[in-house]
Amino acid sequence: MTQYPSLHMIIDGQQIAGGGRRTHAVVNPATGETIGELPLADAADLDRALEVAAEGFRIWRNSTPQQRAAVLQGAARLMVERQEDLARIATMEEGKTLAEARIEVMMNVGLFNFYAGEVFRIYGRTLVRPAGMRSTVTHEPVGPVAAFAPWNFPLGNPGRKLGAPIAAGCSVILKAAEETPASALGVLQCLLDAGLPAQVAQAVFGVPDEVSRHLLGSPIIRKLSFTGSTVIGKHLARLATDNMLRTTMELGGHGPVLVFADADIDRVLDTVVPHKFRNAGQVCVSPTRFIVEEGVFDRFRDGFVERAKAIKVGNGLEEGSQMGPMANPRRPEAMDHLIGDATARGAKLHTGGQRVGNAGYFYAPTVLSEIPLDALIMNEEPFGPVALLNAYSGEDAMIAEANRLPYGLAAYAWTDSAARQKRLAREIETGMLGLNTTMIGGSDSPFGGVKWSGHGAEDGPEGLMACLVTKAVHEG
Ligand code: NAD
Repeated sequence: MTQYPSLHMIIDGQQIAGGGRRTHAVVNPATGETIGELPLADAADLDRALEVAAEGFRIWRNSTPQQRAAVLQGAARLMVERQEDLARIATMEEGKTLAEARIEVMMNVGLFNFYAGEVFRIYGRTLVRPAGMRSTVTHEPVGPVAAFAPWNFPLGNPGRKLGAPIAAGCSVILKAAEETPASALGVLQCLLDAGLPAQVAQAVFGVPDEVSRHLLGSPIIRKLSFTGSTVIGKHLARLATDNMLRTTMELGGHGPVLVFADADIDRVLDTVVPHKFRNAGQVCVSPTRFIVEEGVFDRFRDGFVERAKAIKVGNGLEEGSQMGPMANPRRPEAMDHLIGDATARGAKLHTGGQRVGNAGYFYAPTVLSEIPLDALIMNEEPFGPVALLNAYSGEDAMIAEANRLPYGLAAYAWTDSAARQKRLAREIETGMLGLNTTMIGGSDSPFGGVKWSGHGAEDGPEGLMACLVTKAVHEG
């Protein structure tokens, strides 16, 4: 039986805790009980981590591709060995079902193995020049990275934040969410146990605004990588401009799902309903606004409600639970607020709309329809187990609704018409589009958004390139 581990920071390979530092209580969202006390960094801890990161960069920028690949592959092997422990810890901290947490471990395994190959393909160019002259373009690691990972993928987010910089030859200071620290520490520990020099990757926790101001204000840091809300992303991007940092910003979304009458409606429902309620809807690419062609709307709504009612909500550690609690008390509060606002403005509530049980942060799978466009929930990312169903007439109106918001992270569309698929692929403003599928990622595929959903991708060759800068050298 996995025990929740004692908590610490990792600075220069040392486990840092105690010493009169402030602490943050880590809570199991299925029970509301405190399961750990996390030490928070003070200014001296952050200064130490920065110094070490500078040294780590001097070491790792000169590492060979073979060394980087060996560390990434070794860490992937250790994650497979430790899969069950890592998954249980993630479920204890975040609430998602064990099945989902196990998949997260394997996402990291896939990504680290992909980057282990990709490090051999950091190619440059030689330019055509007159005899006697040589001009080359090379890609170099950008430098020490400050990476901020949120709580919703407690293993996968730290894996992304660590994998790409390490493959590129950077050092990295990771500040994962204070709500899910043990998962992040578990991922980092696999890298260190696989032989990563201690100076190259470190983990700090703290008061988020203090840590981000301190790290981004230091001349040592050369890149900011952030996943989280658009509001905080904009704030951090402003801080990053002072030191002209490279940025990767993976921010909020409001996933539109276009369902056309020519699609196989039962197949669509069997696919999108589980996808909607994955991690209790706390997923940046969660399908949110269902934009349904009016001829099939009633059938789609009824099938959606039936399937949502059948979802078994329970502790993620228990066999048979299909949806765990929300990750923290802020989320059910946000659901009550957004759903209350929508129904007050005339939206129809078909199921859910309330908390489940007296312990923890459980919220019922919720389906709303006929929601006015000025309802808050039609404009703000709900980040919860709520599906918004509205009927529309015609392709143009459906595309206009998909593009109405300033977000552009993930979009989905279901249609049997090949001609329409081409038009949708061109017209929908999004970083990722699933046509007749919800499988929109993969270790080899760029993951990221446009508009207010951010810029710069993670995963794929693009994620590696985002940690590199180019240098042109001209020799006469
Ligand atoms: P939040 O906006 O306060 O925090 C989001 C994340 O940013 C957290 O991990 C937090 O630790 C971090 N953060 C907050 N302030 C920071 C700062 N000044 N410097 C560095 N990091 C900082 O909100 P929350 O209540 O934790 O989450 C709610 C919203 O965040 C959701 O509605 C959703 O829109 C968004 N979110 C998005 C993702 C994603 O995958 N894109 C993940 C988690 C949360």
